[in-house]
Amino acid sequence: LLNARRVRKSFGGVEVLKGISLTVDAGQVMCLLGPSGSGKSTFLRCINHLERIDGGRISVNGELVGYAQRHNRIFEMNRREVARQRRGIGMVFQRFNLFPHMTALENITVAPIGVRKLPKEGALARGKELLDRVGLADLAQSYPAQLSGGQQQRVAIARALAMDPKLLLFDEPTSALDPELVGEVLDVMRTLAAEGMTMIVVTHEIGFARGAADEVVFMDGGVVVESGPPSQVLDDPQHARTRAFLDSVM
Ligand code: ATP
Ligand code: MG
Repeated sequence: LLNARRVRKSFGGVEVLKGISLTVDAGQVMCLLGPSGSGKSTFLRCINHLERIDGGRISVNGELVGYAQRHNRIFEMNRREVARQRRGIGMVFQRFNLFPHMTALENITVAPIGVRKLPKEGALARGKELLDRVGLADLAQSYPAQLSGGQQQRVAIARALAMDPKLLLFDEPTSALDPELVGEVLDVMRTLAAEGMTMIVVTHEIGFARGAADEVVFMDGGVVVESGPPSQVLDDPQHARTRAFLDSVM
């Protein structure tokens, strides 16, 4: 479903992605680990075309990200096409980024109604269903400020799901949470994984990676150092850099 080939990205002459090649099949969960500055967030942003790549290619569901092919030439997509493409890819950030003046339910339905043009009744029914799925059926009318961090992050996940994404990207979804709230968010993510959602999760939660990931990728300095099933990368890492990183987070 996702295919990245030799992806390169520089900021002001500094190359932060030095040829990243990865694939994620439909229904699979990939956990991306790596030290601060290794390029994890940048890579996720490239998948969404929030960053323009300098080399290589990324395709999602067989479609090049950010580029279209016409008459054997590659053209950069216009903003409308990029927006259409981005709708198929959900993203959940470290900070929940909910609209503070909207209730939980409004946060979830604003894009389906405004962007996907779904009828309001249907969007509201679906929004309630999604809130139920993340365990927040009772809090549909609450505003973000009335919710805990864990509840807000679950609303953010429901909001991403409301667009029926083919792929969900998570960028350290629990690292801004108080420790006692991490579990409820990881539980929702585990359920999504078990239901067959295709996900790429940047996280330092090794327990989550061990239990939920089909593949674990360790990045450092803009390259993939090693990748494989959790039992291999987490329990029997082949590279000293991977071992040092795991020692620092476990
Ligand atoms: P962390 O674990 O701290 O979130 P990360 O692996 O997500 O780290 P990135 O945020 O992808 O790392 O950053 C990789 C490198 O690129 C860093 O050196 C960062 O300073 C740099 N960088 C990221 N975005 C920009 C930008 N918009 N302009 C300039 N440099 C950037
Ligand atoms: Mg990051």
